Amino acid sequence: MSKIKDKVVVIMGASSGIGEATTKKLAQEGARLVIAARREDRLKSLVESLPNVEISFLVADVTNKEKVQAVVDFAVEKYGRVDVMYNNAGVMPLALLSENRFDEWRQMLEINIMGVLNGIAAALPIMKKQQSGHIITTDSVAGHIVMPTAAVYCGTKFAVRAIMEGLRQEEHENNIRTTMISPGAVDTELPKSFNDPQMVEMLKETASIEGFGLRPEDIADAVAYAINTPESVAINEILIRPTKQSM
Ligand code: NDP
Repeated sequence: MSKIKDKVVVIMGASSGIGEATTKKLAQEGARLVIAARREDRLKSLVESLPNVEISFLVADVTNKEKVQAVVDFAVEKYGRVDVMYNNAGVMPLALLSENRFDEWRQMLEINIMGVLNGIAAALPIMKKQQSGHIITTDSVAGHIVMPTAAVYCGTKFAVRAIMEGLRQEEHENNIRTTMISPGAVDTELPKSFNDPQMVEMLKETASIEGFGLRPEDIADAVAYAINTPESVAINEILIRPTKQSM
């Protein structure tokens, strides 16, 4: 039997792409879900597309620690526990450092790093009390290598890898599992966060290489695999590239 069935799973950044696909996958496997993001209309239609599923949504910006706490508190009030906290929200406005895009740098640091920390802070107390829990984050191949235009984005994903490894070292004795899901290119709405005109142009070219990226469902399968292992097994990282991706 699936070990996902009846698990209480919170997903931050569930309104599109990997978070949406993971919501659908875990719903199929019988998880009890509390999902969040900023776009209420997208969350609402996702929930409506899943009849007969134990699922609720809340609007929350991961940069707001009170809002993230409210999502976890909602799950605890409704189900008495949280088994999985999936910190998936992220943005990737790529540009050269010389463009001085200060607002975008700050946004990436706030969402990609502080968002993950806010999720960890909200879920850790209840998981320690339970002496069980699983914290998952979407990291990236960009947490392992650096590319021009992606210096800050890579910096956030390197940072998250350090934070997740620290979390593992500090909390494994409390029976808390940690997993980083580290994809290469996945076909999602993420490039919509590009504002730099050169990057938008590059994106148009890459988008014409049909079928290059992974599907969000491929990543959802990896998340489900990590959750579905026995409690004594911690899948600390899964690195997944499209077969034809070189870097
Ligand atoms: P999408 O843009 O489709 O999804 C991003 C999700 O994050 C959305 O649900 C969005 O919801 C949410 N989000 C963004 N900012 C915030 C915020 N401030 N508060 C709450 N939610 C937020 O892209 P992906 O599915 O690709 O991205 C998911 C994760 O995967 C990211 O962490 C990304 O860095 C990572 N990743 C993606 C890769 C790819 O190639 N696509 C490769 C490697 C890693 P909303 O806008 O409604 O708030």
